[in-house]
Amino acid sequence: MSEYSIKRLFDAFGRKATDGQLGLYVDWMTKAGRHAESIIDYAIQHEERLPTISKLNGALQSKKTSEKDHYDPTVERCYYCLDTGFVPYLHDPEGVSAGIYYIRMYSCKCSKAKIGVPKYFDVWGSQQFEQGDYGEECSYPHVVDLEKKRLNEQLRAEAEA
Ligand SMILES: [Zn+2]
Repeated sequence: MSEYSIKRLFDAFGRKATDGQLGLYVDWMTKAGRHAESIIDYAIQHEERLPTISKLNGALQSKKTSEKDHYDPTVERCYYCLDTGFVPYLHDPEGVSAGIYYIRMYSCKCSKAKIGVPKYFDVWGSQQFEQGDYGEECSYPHVVDLEKKRLNEQLRAEAEA
């Protein structure tokens, strides 16, 4: 069953999973348990590229976090990483990104930070995007996501013009 879901995920992005990849992603599904299917469905519908395991882990983490919040509305989450420990940075189209702006994850400065992942604020100094016109319901990862959509739509429009 999980193997089928993984093949479907790779299919959706026009890729064929090697045995090694299949193993890794199936392991991830086992870890994600009941959240796995919905995260994969979401990725198929919304991602522009095949999600990496670390990206799927980020989604899993925020799913678990938002579930927790559901039970405890007083929980306050880290603005920069939503308690996932990862802060997104938007990179210009280049190399492997197939001509679109793409996100890479860096480690947050809060207590959820992951060891071994380059620290966002060490690498970039300050946050890439300001809150600007985005409402306060938008945490930083949302702002970056919306900027990515905006810039990629702009690219697409330019390409079609
Ligand atoms: Zn954080």
